[in-house]
Amino acid sequence: MKIEYKKNLLSVPPYIPGKPIKEVEKEYRIKNAVKLASNESSLGISPKALEALKKNIDSLNRYPEQSRLSQKLAQKYNVSDKNIVLGNGSDEILKMFAEVLLSEKDEAIMSEHSFGMYDIVVKSAGASSVFVPFNNFKIDLDAIKKSITPATKIIFLTNPNNPTGAIIEDKEFENFIKDIPQNILVIIDEAYIEFVRDKKNIIDSLKYIKKGYCVAVARTFSKAYGLAGLRIGYSIMQKELASFLNRIRLPFNVNILGGEAALASLDDEDFLNKTVSSVHNEIDFISEKLDEMKIEYLPTQANFLFVNIKKNADKVFKDMLKLGVIIRSMKIYGYPKAIRVTVGIREENLKFLEALKKVL
Ligand SMILES: *Cc1c(COP(=O)(O)O)cnc(C)c1O
Repeated sequence: MKIEYKKNLLSVPPYIPGKPIKEVEKEYRIKNAVKLASNESSLGISPKALEALKKNIDSLNRYPEQSRLSQKLAQKYNVSDKNIVLGNGSDEILKMFAEVLLSEKDEAIMSEHSFGMYDIVVKSAGASSVFVPFNNFKIDLDAIKKSITPATKIIFLTNPNNPTGAIIEDKEFENFIKDIPQNILVIIDEAYIEFVRDKKNIIDSLKYIKKGYCVAVARTFSKAYGLAGLRIGYSIMQKELASFLNRIRLPFNVNILGGEAALASLDDEDFLNKTVSSVHNEIDFISEKLDEMKIEYLPTQANFLFVNIKKNADKVFKDMLKLGVIIRSMKIYGYPKAIRVTVGIREENLKFLEALKKVL
């Protein structure tokens, strides 16, 4: 082979997924491992979504149709369906933004300790990532503003942030966005928005889109709705931008089962509320236990906790694997002495707390 690959691809970092349960059980010859590593929902999916999946098993010989889901989301958010783009997970939409907006020599700004996909999609598009340090474990909007250059095309914000769980407040954002040049797209990744407790103060992202700002919001059915395995996300943005994403979007990027399960999930607010209140309950429970153990953690508005264990996180990760508990070392996020744990159901959380106690 003498293929000449695009040079920029050599700089694309790998995505490191959470360790799958089956792999851990096989490797360590254990049973009943719990996975609290990828911020998945431990509460499963809506029974209505399950019903929709069963009903559509017989239609899998057909190509999917996506307009009903776009229309339903448009109605929910009081926008036009022309403002909405669906994705095979919100990851795919992040990739589409990068592909549509970034060329070689362009820059995208992101926080130093943020979701790994941003850097991957930026470098895949041949552009460069500019990493901005945190201020006191929070995304630093002032520092981001100061990092803007004529090459800046995208700013990625995560709200609440992964892996810290902190939010950016609306009044802070309002102050930020008014100074951002209109040729820069500000993407607000709201993968965990359903779990937010401080709804009053978080960025009202739709408000800015409706006012015409160069802002897009990315959301997903992977977290609170529990549909991670079906891959379905969406983004709301200005119509013109959506029309450009649609030029490169593959026509059937959301499959029949994902689309139907998402539609049914939107009709089951009870299930969503139950999931969210269970997560809130369990956050309080774990926090109380960590307080008792005198272990530091950050307050969270998402479905995970950033725990400052003050020990080698990669080692703690491995020791916990042996006890059948899969969490994340935060070394790849730039914190070699912290871990992130997804909030599970009580049984899983107890297993996590017990293993943590043993390992520390
Ligand atoms: C989980 C996550 C996503 C979304 O993932 P998809 O499954 O691709 O929708 C996006 N952003 C952040 C910050 C996440 O943690």
